[in-house]
Amino acid sequence: MLFTFKYSMTIMKNILLILCFVSFNCFAQNITTKFEQSGGKESPSYFEIIDWWKKMDASSSYIKMIEMGPTDAGLPLHLVIVSNDKDFNFESLRKKNKRIILINNGIHPGEPDGIDASMLLARDIAINKIKLPGNIVLAIIPVYNIGGCLNRSANYRIDQNGPEEKGFRGNSQNLDLNRDFIKCDSKEARSFAEIFHLIDPDIFVDNHVSDGADYQHIVTLL
Ligand SMILES: [Zn+2]
Repeated sequence: MLFTFKYSMTIMKNILLILCFVSFNCFAQNITTKFEQSGGKESPSYFEIIDWWKKMDASSSYIKMIEMGPTDAGLPLHLVIVSNDKDFNFESLRKKNKRIILINNGIHPGEPDGIDASMLLARDIAINKIKLPGNIVLAIIPVYNIGGCLNRSANYRIDQNGPEEKGFRGNSQNLDLNRDFIKCDSKEARSFAEIFHLIDPDIFVDNHVSDGADYQHIVTLL
């Protein structure tokens, strides 16, 4: 009798595990981005971006979003970690000899391609459409210039091929954050220094977009 009870409990546990896995995958599977929903014409607003990542964090055990330091906009920076090991501790990840890639998005929020591409990449990893190599961990800042992201207009960067509304280059103090890493006049730059030291990345990717300039190649690495 005891054996039967234990046995049925094991079966129950297994069924529950399978159900959890199936529902978890279905949930992540159903998550689309504003970029996809609008046929590539729109990029999400700041609050839509953070809500989306919160949903992603809740639906995938490979993804965790944490709050980091303050910004001039009065809102904290966020950091998203994508880890196959479900290990989100950078000290422990370095001990495991993982290669850590830090991706910064929206330092110029009118250049939102990295914001959208990071969402697509993390979602595709969560639903196993893309396999993140075992030795790689991604750390993503969803939006760095929050003040500029909140200041949106269809009339910014008019030579650029979309999206319909774009953020502004300057932050809440009208500082260009891409010129502030050393002088650190912004709270963003000071918070970034803390993030950079915490992560100690092997590779740092800072995503930008050209303002309608006639480049020969779609992607430029410099
Ligand atoms: Zn830029």
